This record gives sequence, C-alpha cells and structure tokens, in this order.
Amino acid sequence: MRRVLLSLIVALSCSILLPPGLAGLAGQTPWLDSYRPIAARLLAESQSSDFAWRRLAELTDTFGNRLSGSDTLEKAIDWAVTEMKRDGLENVHKEPVMVPKWVRGHESLELLAPVHQPLVLLGLGNSIATPPAGIEGDVVVVKSYDDLTAHAKDVNGRIVLLNVPFTTYGETRPFRTDGTSRAAKLGATAFLLRSVGPPGLRTAHTGAMTYANDAPKIPAAAIPTEDADRLQRLADRGVRPRVRLMMDAHFEPDAPSANVVGELVGRELPRDVLVLGGHIDSWDVGAGATDDGGGCIVTWEALRLMKKLNLRPRRTVRVVLFTNEENGTRGGNGYRDAHKAELGNHVLLLESDGGVFEPAGFGFTFDPAKSGSPAAAERARQTVASVASLLGAIGADHVTDGGEGTDIEPASTAGNVPMMSHLDTGDYFLIHHTPADTIARITPAQVSKNAAAIAVMIYTLADLPFRLGRE
Ligand SMILES: [Zn+2]
Repeated sequence: MRRVLLSLIVALSCSILLPPGLAGLAGQTPWLDSYRPIAARLLAESQSSDFAWRRLAELTDTFGNRLSGSDTLEKAIDWAVTEMKRDGLENVHKEPVMVPKWVRGHESLELLAPVHQPLVLLGLGNSIATPPAGIEGDVVVVKSYDDLTAHAKDVNGRIVLLNVPFTTYGETRPFRTDGTSRAAKLGATAFLLRSVGPPGLRTAHTGAMTYANDAPKIPAAAIPTEDADRLQRLADRGVRPRVRLMMDAHFEPDAPSANVVGELVGRELPRDVLVLGGHIDSWDVGAGATDDGGGCIVTWEALRLMKKLNLRPRRTVRVVLFTNEENGTRGGNGYRDAHKAELGNHVLLLESDGGVFEPAGFGFTFDPAKSGSPAAAERARQTVASVASLLGAIGADHVTDGGEGTDIEPASTAGNVPMMSHLDTGDYFLIHHTPADTIARITPAQVSKNAAAIAVMIYTLADLPFRLGRE
C-alpha cells in the first residue's frame, strides 16, 4: 500500500520540479563538486551488473508472497538477515514486533442471475467470513456514495457493489477502506468493490479495509473492473444481478515478526543516522515484487554498493526492512518505539514503496512548523535538489514536495524527522495488490537505476559537511 504517491507523480509530470533559479544553484554549492566523482562511481557500479534484480528475483521466487503472520514472511526475514551479513553490512539484526494474522482461506463469487457463472474476486484484508453456505443476494450497483444514499431504500437485505472508477490511489483508496461500513449501515448483507486500480486483465486488487464501530460487520471483497462494469451494465438495463459470495476469511492470534536492520556505521558522526527502507511484508497474492520487495532491495542495495566501493559516509546509514506495512503498521510503530531515545539523531527517513520502475526523483517533506523556520526548510529542500542534480543522467533529478511513507511516518512524527519518498513512473497501480505483482514487470536496468539514485542521494546527504536541515 502506498498513499498519495501517484498524485505526486502527476504533480511531478506537470509542475513542480526545481524552484526558480535552483537549476543554477549547483554552481553556487561548493560542496557538491566533491560528490560528483563518487556519484559517478555509484552509478557505474550499479549499472554494471544485474545483482539487485537477481536478488529481487531470489526473494520473490523463493518465498513468494509474504503476508503478516505467514511462514514465508518470517523465512524471507531470516534470509535477509543472512544475506545482509554476507554483504558485510554492520549491526545486522532483527527487531521483534507482534503482527496481526489475517487468513484469507477459500473464497468464491458466483453470478446466479441472469446466468450462472463464476466471477473473479479477492476478499479485502481484515474482512470477516460469510456463513459456510455463503451469502446469496441481489446486487445493488452504485457509482458513488451519493448514489448509495440515493439507493438507500433498495440496499437493505441486498449486496452492494460500489463501482467507483480509479482516479488516483489517494482519491480512490478510501472507498476500499470505508465503503463496507457505509453499505452495512443501510442494511447491506455483503459489500463488493470495484478494484482500486486502472483497468487491467480482469484482475482483482485486494487491500486493507476497516470496520466502523457503529456499523454491523459484513464480508467485503473486490472484483475486477471488467466484472464491475458488467454488473453495472446489467443494472442499467434493468436486470437485477444475483450473486453468491463465499469467504472463509478470519483472524488468528497475533504472530511474532520483526523488522530487519543493517548499517554502515558513520566514519565521523556514527550517532547521526539516515534511515532508508521498504516493507518486506506483502499481500497474500502475487509475489510482492513491486509492493514492496523492490523497495526493500533497492534501499538495501544502496548500502551494498557503498560497502563494495569502500564508501563510508560521515554519518551512519541504516537500512530497515519493515514488517506489517499492509495491514497493521506494527513494523513502523515498532521502529519508532525501539529507537525513541535516538530519534533526535535521525537526520532523514527515506521509504521506497512506489515501485522500482523508471526512476523519477524524490519527494521531500520537512515541515517548516517543526523545523524552526520556513527558511530552514527551504534550505534543506535546496540541498536535496542540489544532490538530485547529480542524477540527471538517469532521470532521477526531480524533487517534489510530499516525501512520505507509511513505515517512516511514526518515527518522523515522533522525532520531527524529514521524510523522503523514492519516486518512479510505471505500472505500479496496475499490478499493486494483485496476483500480477511479479518481477516479470520489472527490468534489471530499472532496479539498478533506482538503487543508484538512492545510493547517491543517501550517501551524499549522509556525508555532507553540515547536517541536513541545519544548513
Ligand atoms: Zn507497499
């Protein structure tokens, strides 16, 4: 899951790039020149091999999907610890947290009228089960919450399909999280959702939903855009579709899991830390390659590249593979709690959870209200933009507002730490949370470029003669 990055990418493609005059700032930034040869070495080393892509393939081929509470997640975590040690990273360890364990079980959706045929579905994460015999009912198809309200009298005792076309993830995701209880309050017996993603090849997208405290709990599932449109056309023609939904979904007791941590300890200011990472858990379909195996691998690879080239920055760089991003954020909260005493020494938190397709740059957030002054925040942004200017050759030189990440937000909020997102452009939301989230969509060159972009950005910020945010 990631929140609003798509809108950032849209913004990136049409407006904010460097602030006026900043493109010429590099020449007035004496420290930048000393990093050009290092950036060139990192870019060359990363692009000289497909090591990172092969590591992503090993992760996703060996363990497949990695939902919280699953054996595959824990095995992938142990594998990452072993491999980080093999890379020569320092202080490699697990930081334990308990995670929720939601189990999908068997599920099916059948169209019963006007014809009897199977439909495609994916239950939404956190959903309850249907009774063993399933829930059978007529489907009320609505296009929006206003439409749901307009059909309020029809809903009681029926199944609601909320058929809202995908715009951006930030705009459409709330229908997945909140729609079930909106329908349940009107007496719906089950909830179907048009998948949150662009039209694909009749593929359903799962993702987390939540139950409101003041509504009955009813089962919830996503269906492909094609099936949603079919039910819509039937309804528009005056034909009431009838379906049977069966789901076994349930929670089991919380299970032990862990964040994976590895470092390169800073050569002069080891207590100052820059964190970078992704989330090692995924939904229970596909292979979690783009969400978010790729984010784990490219941030981890940034440290491996530094280590391989004997580049030890002034400050400590710490990769964190967070657990339980998709359905709990226990990893992000756990990191904040375990590192509470040193959050004041956190210089930056970077998350890559938007795919590893063509690199586009970075989102950066340093709240002026928390950083002391708008001028300080702007100077930090200019520093980041200057470093990004080293990445023009691979198209990663754009800096937008809006750095964020589900796993880094807890520590950022607790410690007023600047946040950075790694940005790219590609098919993230086409395959996100689907069985199609595999490495087949990602090229070795893309993985290498993203790893290089992150390595150059983080190495430079970790090595600056001044601390980011205190220019
Ligand atoms: Zn994600």
